[in-house]
Amino acid sequence: MTGLSDPFNRPINYLRISVTDRCNLRCIYCMPAEGIDLLPHGEILTYEEIATIVRLAAELGINKLRLTGGEPLVRAKLTELVAMLADIDAIDDISLTTNGVLLKEYASELKQAGLKRVNVSLDSLNQDKFERITRHRKLSDVLQGIEAAKACGLNPVKINMVVMRGINDDEILGFAKFTITEGWHVRFIELMPFVTDNPPEGHSIGRKANSHPQFMSANEIKERLNSLGELKPCLPITGNGPAKYFRFPQASGTIGFITPVSQHFCFSCNRLRLTAEGKLRPCLLSDQEIDLRQPLRSGASPEKLKQVITEAIQTKPKEHQLAQGHTSKKRLMSQVGG
Ligand code: SAM
Ligand code: SF4
Repeated sequence: MTGLSDPFNRPINYLRISVTDRCNLRCIYCMPAEGIDLLPHGEILTYEEIATIVRLAAELGINKLRLTGGEPLVRAKLTELVAMLADIDAIDDISLTTNGVLLKEYASELKQAGLKRVNVSLDSLNQDKFERITRHRKLSDVLQGIEAAKACGLNPVKINMVVMRGINDDEILGFAKFTITEGWHVRFIELMPFVTDNPPEGHSIGRKANSHPQFMSANEIKERLNSLGELKPCLPITGNGPAKYFRFPQASGTIGFITPVSQHFCFSCNRLRLTAEGKLRPCLLSDQEIDLRQPLRSGASPEKLKQVITEAIQTKPKEHQLAQGHTSKKRLMSQVGG
């Protein structure tokens, strides 16, 4: 292992792999209700292809993986991929980001295959509101999924809540209380403008992210928590990400804030993304992509493929321009992996 770093001397050791662009939900901030062009199956990387890329990336210094999507659990036999990746010596951490709908069914076999932990996206504990946000009535499946993940040791289970003013901000306190009563690890995520039909129409692109009417900054979210007591900074329980963590004195769970808009964390970004169709994406919020599938399928040598990966990292931008209104214009969040 040589260790990868980008032109700004950031070590890159974390690969986020989108295994599908398909999803069983349609969250308003991520996907339009309909009319999405899905990738033909032949364009999606096979598990063997993903494992080949990970083996090469691991030789270069990648040692942490996260599987995402779309919804990763809608891809058939995901457990087989987890087992293949867990077999790669240099990989010491495999995690999953999921909407949780199918987690009850797969948690145990994923754990056995080598998955370490899961993040579950959950924006409301109210059935009607959950349906308004995700356009599906699946809240109880998600809650059962969370319990199943905990029960089989996919710990810590982190709950990701995208906070939207006027939609679910009235639940901030309720989620925070669960860190005390249920030991939940909750992360509040600032809403990022992406290409969706989330109203108000046309607002998302080209305007400053913090002027979106549904946007709430982490500072404002934190202020709402004052009534529950004093939040004290704490160390991350696990993870490779940008969240800053806090805890109420009486809580066994933690509260994290992910602040892509109000306080970007690009200076410490350690990640590279692989899309479902095999494009390396050095930054979530930049449309710069490097195709790995074409050289892979045309028989490029391992050395050549490693060179493509290394070159992709050299194109990683210093920072994103979300606060200034620049975001991905080419892809939905579900097509990148969040
Ligand atoms: N389907 C899985 C899920 O929902 O967890 C994985 C993919 S999803 C794109 C990954 C993460 O991105 C989720 O936590 C989701 O809430 C977050 N996300 C999607 N669109 C977002 C947006 N516009 N702003 C902030 N977070 C977003
Ligand atoms: Fe699907 Fe996840 Fe996007 Fe929601 S956030 S639509 S669950 S990919």
